[in-house]
Amino acid sequence: MNDCIFCKIISGQLLCEKLGETQNVFAFSDIQPQAPLHALLISKEHVASLNNLTPQKRREILPEMYDLADQIVQDKGLRERGYRTVINNQKEGGQVVFHLHMHVLAGAKLRGHIGA
Ligand code: 5GP
Ligand code: ZN
Repeated sequence: MNDCIFCKIISGQLLCEKLGETQNVFAFSDIQPQAPLHALLISKEHVASLNNLTPQKRREILPEMYDLADQIVQDKGLRERGYRTVINNQKEGGQVVFHLHMHVLAGAKLRGHIGA
């Protein structure tokens, strides 16, 4: 999608710190990290949000996101300490960038409330 920042990252038009990829998912560091490790795992295909995934795509992409999250925290030596995964969905769910992505945060005792 033309004016989507995450599509620009995938196509190389915007720079990022790449952390890994699978067939359908690409991972890079968040530009405003909220923890020592703050990865964003995005679908390679432009999908606006969780709401826009077909059941078939959901079964394809979400397991890959969790596999890649597991791989990244393992690579960083943080898997056993623990980590948090978050997908913000739509405006009230806190989504700002409308290209499907999962946050993976680790490397510190995570604080903060996750509700309203
Ligand atoms: P959301 O609030 O939509 O779940 O999260 C969007 C995330 O994308 C935010 O944590 C924000 O810091 C990150 N982000 C926004 N623009 C860029 C960018 O150009 N590059 C990178 N690496 N991250 C970005
Ligand atoms: Zn996009």
